[in-house]
Amino acid sequence: MASDDVGAAVLHDRGVTTSPTSSNASVASTRTCRICLDEGDDEVLGRLIAPCRCTGTSRYVHDGCLLSWRTSVKAESFYACPQCGARYRFRTTPVSSLLGRTYSANALAILISLCLAIFFGFLTDPLLRLTEREMLSFGSEQLPHHWFDEHLAAGDAVRETASFTGFLFRDCTWSSARESYWEQETTISEDPTPLPNPVINMNIQDVEVRRNLTNCGRFWGKRSDDETQVQGVGKAVLHVVRGFALFSLARAFVGRLVRQYFLLAITLRMVFPSLGCKLPYNSFADLISASWLGIDASFFADVVKMVRRRAKVARSQDEIASWWQFPLVMCTFFTAFFAFRSILSFSQGIVKAALARVESLVVDLSEEDDAVEREQVQYTR
Ligand SMILES: [Zn+2]
Ligand SMILES: [Zn+2]
Repeated sequence: MASDDVGAAVLHDRGVTTSPTSSNASVASTRTCRICLDEGDDEVLGRLIAPCRCTGTSRYVHDGCLLSWRTSVKAESFYACPQCGARYRFRTTPVSSLLGRTYSANALAILISLCLAIFFGFLTDPLLRLTEREMLSFGSEQLPHHWFDEHLAAGDAVRETASFTGFLFRDCTWSSARESYWEQETTISEDPTPLPNPVINMNIQDVEVRRNLTNCGRFWGKRSDDETQVQGVGKAVLHVVRGFALFSLARAFVGRLVRQYFLLAITLRMVFPSLGCKLPYNSFADLISASWLGIDASFFADVVKMVRRRAKVARSQDEIASWWQFPLVMCTFFTAFFAFRSILSFSQGIVKAALARVESLVVDLSEEDDAVEREQVQYTR
């Protein structure tokens, strides 16, 4: 027993309160935990199990005691008993085997992205109307330069993406060159003289009517307002595309603000060292760790802000699509890529955390031994 005492003392010095021992003393009549020395299952510490091939007084241990032991000692001890060397076996549940699959994090990321896209899809139409209203009220050639127009810039990129993808699906809801027709319509309908063109005679306030007044409608030979809107699967796909575009661009513009804040924090720290250090995210490492805020995609938000006015002017001319639309669509695509990547790393974190919880369910070997014994008894009979 002396060697065990020495071992226990060494472990105690390492900060471990007590340790499993390899004592082969006679099997205890009552099951006691080798760490906390309590008997039987415990409400807080969990089941009293035999996780490894250790025998005697160190055969049994509580789930909770074992987990804190496994996590407090060196890495290998997380997976195997340091005394008898047996590797712990973990209970496999449908959940754990599902989480253990390599594609589970990807599937979760796609699911989260889809939910976000569906939710944000409902916000896109109001935002797109807001950006068009700005366009109409100021006219394409003299767009005002706002000091803070991030929401309008994001709205423009979403709109160009909506226009581009909608056009591909033969949906003209947000197609390009709408504004010029709107403007024409507004000026002409203020004229009191009767109008020869039945299209122009239509009510400008009727959103359904406006949809047909685009080059997209003409290009695809759409005659009625109902025809300019796709239904069913196409409508759902466009909803998801618009929603994810909005989410990704919003993230990129938030990243742009965070980046500006970061630059401000660095400057403050240089000028007033005592003040700057108290700000959150004042070092580059902080910034990297906060990359979910969208700093990775903020460069594309810069590009959107640079080209959006040119795209608007080009759009208001009689074109189905302009080359200025292309950079905005590409920016949206890249911000979506970065957004998905950040959702993926978030999902991987969730899967790992869930797996760690499931892995703490170490298989109780004593139950298995009992089962084997029962089987053997049946066999001999
Ligand atoms: Zn215990
Ligand atoms: Zn052991």
